Amino acid sequence: MSDPRPTVGFIGLGSMGGGMTRNLQRAGFPLVVTDLRPESATELVAGGAIWADTAAQVAAASDLVITMLPTPRHVADAVSGPDGVLEGIRDGGTWIDMSTSVPEVADAVRTATDGRGLHILDAPVSGMSVGAANGMLQIFVGGDADDVARLRPVFEAMGDPERILHVGGHGAGYAVKLMINQLWFSHLVATAEVLAVGVKAGVDLGVLRDALVASPANSNFVEHDVLSILEHGDYDEGFALALACKDLGLSVDLARAVNVPVELSGLVEQVFRRAKASYGDRAGEMAPFQLYEDLVGTPLRLNPVEEGVR
Ligand code: NAD
Repeated sequence: MSDPRPTVGFIGLGSMGGGMTRNLQRAGFPLVVTDLRPESATELVAGGAIWADTAAQVAAASDLVITMLPTPRHVADAVSGPDGVLEGIRDGGTWIDMSTSVPEVADAVRTATDGRGLHILDAPVSGMSVGAANGMLQIFVGGDADDVARLRPVFEAMGDPERILHVGGHGAGYAVKLMINQLWFSHLVATAEVLAVGVKAGVDLGVLRDALVASPANSNFVEHDVLSILEHGDYDEGFALALACKDLGLSVDLARAVNVPVELSGLVEQVFRRAKASYGDRAGEMAPFQLYEDLVGTPLRLNPVEEGVR
């Protein structure tokens, strides 16, 4: 790589940020990082990243700053709070929020920094922690086209080049991401319902799923994603149920803000909140499926290992 790579400041080294920073490092971007959990940076620092104690210090030492934090409140704290990004970022600097969040936080930052010429983008992602780890995230970027073009190499270090989409102006990335999650979570609940009913009605689980896959009712969830549960009993703890409920709440809030009634989305949100009450904040994002397994009285599994049989 001949051109020197800009220094990337990265705040939030959790399930997603951990993999994203490792891929930025592999692609040759110098890193300055922070997190409330210093131990999350051990491997990165061993690989040459610089640790900073505060978000302000990250911003002061970087050419651009990325946040990858749980909720809008965490983003607001890290950017506008004491020792936040705004205390360190230079005039004309760049802040990209890759969290699943809402435009209000960045709107307030824009108002508070009027005249400082900051470049602000929203760029939330899909692809789970596995996509973050293998650099194949789908990225939905909202912001100015010139900024998106300039920052493309940074996005390409973390995402699938074919699926880095400039989806519109400021806030469009957040909106697209929330609608994707809303639809995927709706697919999850709908799939759990029909599998539970069909199995209780006496149909073999594998036969039922094969019939669904071959039918006009097929979906990516029925064909692919549900297999994580049906084959491995894996409810994806890489994405906490608490964060899934946060996303569904933001999605319903967005619908309210634009005056669209969303009966189905509200119902799906409540199913997820029931699962969170039953299985806890840290259960995997697909744990609501278990509510229906509980109704059937047994986990829904393809080829279950029978006791005593290997
Ligand atoms: P996580 O809880 O695993 O990680 C968040 C990290 O942020 C933690 O390490 C925490 O210590 C740190 N943090 C919190 N507040 C901080 C602050 N003020 N300063 C510095 N660090 C702070 O969350 P995650 O799963 O990595 O999710 C991050 C974002 O990505 C969320 O908005 C989530 O909705 C979104 N997302 C997650 C997934 C997934 O599969 N996990 C997929 C797509 C999008």
